[in-house]
Amino acid sequence: MSETKAFVPTMGALHAGHLSLIEIAKSFSSNVVVSIFVNPLQFENPDDLATYPRDLDRDIAKAREAGATEIWSPTYDEIYPGEIAPISSGDLGKKYEGVGREGHFDGVLTVVDRLFKHIAPQWAVFGEKDFQQLFIIKRWVKSHNIPVEIVAAPLIRDLDGLALSSRNVRLSREDRKAALVISRALRQATSERSIESARDRLHDVLTSEPGFTLDYAEIINEDNFEPATSSRKGRALVAGWVNGVRLLDNMPMSSKSKVVAE
Ligand code: AMP
Repeated sequence: MSETKAFVPTMGALHAGHLSLIEIAKSFSSNVVVSIFVNPLQFENPDDLATYPRDLDRDIAKAREAGATEIWSPTYDEIYPGEIAPISSGDLGKKYEGVGREGHFDGVLTVVDRLFKHIAPQWAVFGEKDFQQLFIIKRWVKSHNIPVEIVAAPLIRDLDGLALSSRNVRLSREDRKAALVISRALRQATSERSIESARDRLHDVLTSEPGFTLDYAEIINEDNFEPATSSRKGRALVAGWVNGVRLLDNMPMSSKSKVVAE
């Protein structure tokens, strides 16, 4: 058995998106470590933290079934035994997801740093679902010469197009219908020829659904996370709310994302 480890950090409430990360991790190492830790540092809203779905027994069974060889569900004190010096996510940490969620990405980097130090993996798999998070983590790993290869996993959708998320359990049938405007807008925008018409289409479709409150919609360049000036390497990002549930999605300008049933 090899000594290497591939790592999949999660906050639990595992769904097919998380399990796809475990599948990918298996292709890097025969040792796949999955962590389950709901990190209070990355929640700016105490209600969201309190109501975040938790079901450890079910998660452990699912992770094992998907091929995890080690599951680690640390306590708060194991991760944060003393003073916490948050790691800065810089200017980008204050944009898009960072605007209404102060300190969110600093909290993400701080926990990822602690998890990496405990587990010492060679690879860590993160989902493109959280595209800004993935970018910030990759940039931090590179600039700090952290000896972990960050592996990006494609975003997994439900059959109806909704991006899988642990928070989707809070959506009623009606809410879900409204939420589908997001993937519809992304599909239509990413099939536009010019970046200008893609931006227009994204906004037009998103604002056509009264049940959806838009937070932001932008097409960024995947290389630098700046607003894209052409479709090349562009990725459309959307975040918003349906009946108090925050939803996040994105799609590359060049290809269609994978779809699976939960
Ligand atoms: P979370 O438990 O929400 O912190 O997510 C743990 C990891 O799973 C992160 O790297 C997420 O980007 C990833 N993830 C969550 N949902 C999806 C999805 N629908 N498709 C792919 N990866 C996902």
